[in-house]
Amino acid sequence: MKLTLLSVFAFLNLFKPTIALAKEIALTFDDAPGETTLHFTPEQRTDTLIQKLKSNNVPPVIIFANPCNGGDQPYILKQIRKLSEGGHIIGNHTCSHPRLDKVGFEYFTQDVKKAESLMGPTLSFPKLFRFPFFNEGTKSKLRDQIRQWLKDHSYRNIPSSIDNEDPIFSAKINEAKAKGKNVNYEKLKPLFIEHILAGAEYGERLALENLGYSPKHIILLHQKDATVLFIDDLVKELRQRGWTIVSAVDAIEDPLYRMEPKNTLSTFGILAQIVKEKTGEFQPSYDFVRLSKELDKVLK
Ligand SMILES: [Zn+2]
Repeated sequence: MKLTLLSVFAFLNLFKPTIALAKEIALTFDDAPGETTLHFTPEQRTDTLIQKLKSNNVPPVIIFANPCNGGDQPYILKQIRKLSEGGHIIGNHTCSHPRLDKVGFEYFTQDVKKAESLMGPTLSFPKLFRFPFFNEGTKSKLRDQIRQWLKDHSYRNIPSSIDNEDPIFSAKINEAKAKGKNVNYEKLKPLFIEHILAGAEYGERLALENLGYSPKHIILLHQKDATVLFIDDLVKELRQRGWTIVSAVDAIEDPLYRMEPKNTLSTFGILAQIVKEKTGEFQPSYDFVRLSKELDKVLK
């Protein structure tokens, strides 16, 4: 076959849509397995999450666990082991979820070590770490010190590329239930899904504009009540809107997650930090106060 310039272009065009519509995403769940609430015990929440991920064929996710939270330690460790046996990756999210800026380097690193010694072989290899509140230190000296400490202890920090406020939905439904209100979950669900999807689309846009490619995204979610209640619908809606859910094992290999921006705006994930580096500013995809008011209206 004679290869004309036109046929080469036609051939290249075949790949264009695949590149433009990449939209790959891996799921991560922080704060596992959590406390007993008005919706779930830690065990019920863990079992429900494992079952929903399995029945929706979701590839391995990363569970960033806090083994010191939730009460009875052997019971909490059992939940973390179940998530691991369910085929998921277990990362260290510290033992008791302290804020680095507040507790300082010594306390914080002891807490990370405590989580590691408690979780033992349940902690996946390579060792993955995520900062509570994404707080990597707002002073560069502390930030550099902790980055070095993590490397010296063979940890990789895994930020997310997609940010949102999923915990507020859980806080609000528990608050409403505690006040004896009838929670309308069906009314709340579309708000939850729209909020998360808007964050995902925003992350994709930021990546295309600032990295020049669509990375394997990592979304921040939490093992909290509303997220676990709505996760199956969220997964379906992500797929419906063209997202492919990929294994977190593959996603962490995207070069994005090895970048170390110089500024200390780590609160909203790695893309926010990159945008800040490039443009000097960053706007999150949501307004916390407005979201909170919107939820209060639905739950009144
Ligand atoms: Zn957390």
